[in-house]
Amino acid sequence: MRALVLNAGYEPLSVVTSRRAAVLVMRGKASVLAEDGNPIVSPSALIPRPAVILLHQYVRVVRRRPSAPSRRGILRRDQRQCGYCGKQAATVDHVIPKSRGGDSSWGNLVACCGPCNVRKGDKTLEQLGWKLLITPKAPPHHMWLPAELDAPCDAWMPFLGQSTGQQVTSAAAA
Ligand SMILES: [Zn+2]
Repeated sequence: MRALVLNAGYEPLSVVTSRRAAVLVMRGKASVLAEDGNPIVSPSALIPRPAVILLHQYVRVVRRRPSAPSRRGILRRDQRQCGYCGKQAATVDHVIPKSRGGDSSWGNLVACCGPCNVRKGDKTLEQLGWKLLITPKAPPHHMWLPAELDAPCDAWMPFLGQSTGQQVTSAAAA
């Protein structure tokens, strides 16, 4: 069982075992924001199993800039939805084709379904009369975290959407 750890500024920081999260709570270093239904059984007590904890002290994070985006990173950012038609996507497409000088940056890559990828080929959006459903850009902070966040628990979802770089900055300044 895993627990999501939120920094004191409420942005997702890491994922730990729920046992480790319970230890942090018992030591007074964190509070429980959401619990899992199944308590941890210890020799002396039943301890609520944390699903999400909030650290009391702000941990300064060395920001990892997203480097060259990977196929997996793009699919994850776009939630596997085609940037052109919104259907399930398994491939990645250069919005401005490489052959026309398009780069492999976060801003020029989108998740793309097979049929759209074939139809698009080396053409530009203008040529096809297509519009992007999203504005491709580097993903927010929490998406650079470990792969555990690829398969988040339901209990984590309310806490994953609020993470922005701005929040990190304001929390760090506070
Ligand atoms: Zn498509």
